[in-house]
Amino acid sequence: MLLQAAALSVLFCSVQSFTVQGPFGNGEEYSGNTVEDDEFSVSTLLEKANVNVGKNFDDPLVMFGDIAVPTDLQNADPCVERGCLWPKATDGNVYVPYRISRDYDERERNTIVEGLRSFAESTCIRFTPLNGQEDFVNIQSRSGCFSFVGRRGRGQVVSLSRRGCVFRQIIQHELLHALGFNHEQTRSDRNEHVRILLENVIPGMESNFRRIETRNLGTPYDYNSVMHYGRFAFSRNRRPTIVPIPDGNVAIGRATQMSATDILRVNRLYQCNSTASRPDLKPVQRNHFL
Ligand SMILES: [Zn+2]
Repeated sequence: MLLQAAALSVLFCSVQSFTVQGPFGNGEEYSGNTVEDDEFSVSTLLEKANVNVGKNFDDPLVMFGDIAVPTDLQNADPCVERGCLWPKATDGNVYVPYRISRDYDERERNTIVEGLRSFAESTCIRFTPLNGQEDFVNIQSRSGCFSFVGRRGRGQVVSLSRRGCVFRQIIQHELLHALGFNHEQTRSDRNEHVRILLENVIPGMESNFRRIETRNLGTPYDYNSVMHYGRFAFSRNRRPTIVPIPDGNVAIGRATQMSATDILRVNRLYQCNSTASRPDLKPVQRNHFL
């Protein structure tokens, strides 16, 4: 109910062309990391798919590229300490009920289900078909790719538009938001690992690069996180907006699936290897989900 206000999307301005030909302005400096190379980064896919986010009346306010923001909360700070984690069952797993809209064709639906199942391969997250539970993720093809951060209560929309969002890395990215994770480049310690070039950012999009006091769970900053934007995210001039430091040529934001660190973070946030809720667990099984 909170989401029905058709808030003006900050993404209106993100329309930009990636088809302009010609050499990249500072090509030598960033060889191998050109706009063209970046075409399939998570953030490029998100930007392209989210061009129309906010144009539909029932879309929530979307900020930070693809994070839906409740209209009673004007930021997307980490919520895990406010209780937005999904509950842990007595068997040690975290069951997250889902419903997938009938709007998808069979291939798209299969891709989404595979993306959901991928979490079970390496974490204790178990996406399971909705069966009467109150809280669930409601996967719909709205006007872009977006999700809330963490469990919001009741059916929370995870939008995976048929036009540009039904890819493994996007599905994992949006569901990691729903599990409580923010973008990697907004991490509390990001200034030690990347430089943000606001002068190259589309005017009005600067908030996408805001730093957040995240809980990093003792995990290292990860350029290969599926939650890391590419170097040209929200660029107004085909020049980088995110440059890794100290080595500016390191590839960033190219993940095609969850990284080992992404998986580690899920396991730590949800204490997947914890035996606390499984007093009967035999030692040999303890690391089953690691
Ligand atoms: Zn995102």
